[in-house]
Amino acid sequence: MSERRPDLSVIRDEIRAIQAYAVPDSTGLIKLDAMENPFALPAEVARELGERLGQVLLNRYPPAEPRAFKDKLARAIGLPAGMRLLLGNGSDELIHLTIQACARPGATVLSPWPSFEMYDLSSRFDGCRFVAVPLAADFSLDRERLLAAIAEHRPAVTFISWPNNPTGNLFDRSTVEAVLAAAPGLVVLDEAYLPFAQDTWLPQLAHWPNLLVLRTFSKLGLAGIRLGYLCGDAAWIGEINKVRPPYNVNVLTLAAADFLLDRLPLLDGQAAVLRAERARLLERLCALVGVTAFDSAANFILFRVGGGSDGADRVFAQLKSRGILVKNRTHVHPLLQGCLRVTVGTPAENDAFIAALAASL
Ligand code: PMP
Repeated sequence: MSERRPDLSVIRDEIRAIQAYAVPDSTGLIKLDAMENPFALPAEVARELGERLGQVLLNRYPPAEPRAFKDKLARAIGLPAGMRLLLGNGSDELIHLTIQACARPGATVLSPWPSFEMYDLSSRFDGCRFVAVPLAADFSLDRERLLAAIAEHRPAVTFISWPNNPTGNLFDRSTVEAVLAAAPGLVVLDEAYLPFAQDTWLPQLAHWPNLLVLRTFSKLGLAGIRLGYLCGDAAWIGEINKVRPPYNVNVLTLAAADFLLDRLPLLDGQAAVLRAERARLLERLCALVGVTAFDSAANFILFRVGGGSDGADRVFAQLKSRGILVKNRTHVHPLLQGCLRVTVGTPAENDAFIAALAASL
């Protein structure tokens, strides 16, 4: 048999050098690794949704501009006058499109770090230089360092996760304002965890001409439909819209989101349960000897176990053997040494996690 090997040399070196975004197999495990809402829709609502989706014309492309849906969404979120929305296939896509629109040769993207890894990955995909500015040891923004990095690197885009994934904290507002004032390019405030933080920059859009606010339906309970939205001045949105693939948001996603916009109290109610569970989970984590848990404004909690990276690897593996999947963050950044991240689940899932963790320490 002759050996037939593809010649990969046409693939860019920096792409060949990285690993694909890893999504672990969670079959049979309690899934507390990806910040999903653990609650399904009530059966009656799911049935009604099924009926609605059954009426969608799958033979047609999505509308060029889903005006009615966007107007409904703008009203639901209180979008300030003069601002527009851009829809994406998850906010992941909007991170990518924003960078892509700004990716002149040699352009820089910057973010406090550790933060959401797609800021880094998407920058590399678009040939940008990514500058990661380390957070302070308590995960707050290092104001001097951040402003010095902005002055030095003149980033085209700065991403700030509000609250920050994976540390869970909200940063100091006045430092973010200093970033907005100093940044020569766009500043994207990523509000993926809005339902749990209940703290937003949206009203500030009118004040800061270089501010964009990024949000998603994912953490609210609709991660599977893949819908994110970027809010900003009509001029910015018009430019970034040019690099959006036509039909990037499919008709089933639009119909499902439209249906659920009419039922937001249901999803808000689930978020309220999760906020209460977050407080209970934090308390129980703090009560475990050998665990340091960090306060969170999101639907996940970062915690540190003893024994450094080896300790975190061991506890991660033991949790998995006990049927619980969390996210191991110890190898991501020196500030996260010994750290694991757990998503807030249902009360029963959280109890199972705490029991498994207590047995794994
Ligand atoms: N931003 C942040 C800070 C996130 O943590 C995530 C998901 N983990 C996303 C954006 C992407 O969310 P989605 O693509 O599901 O909208």
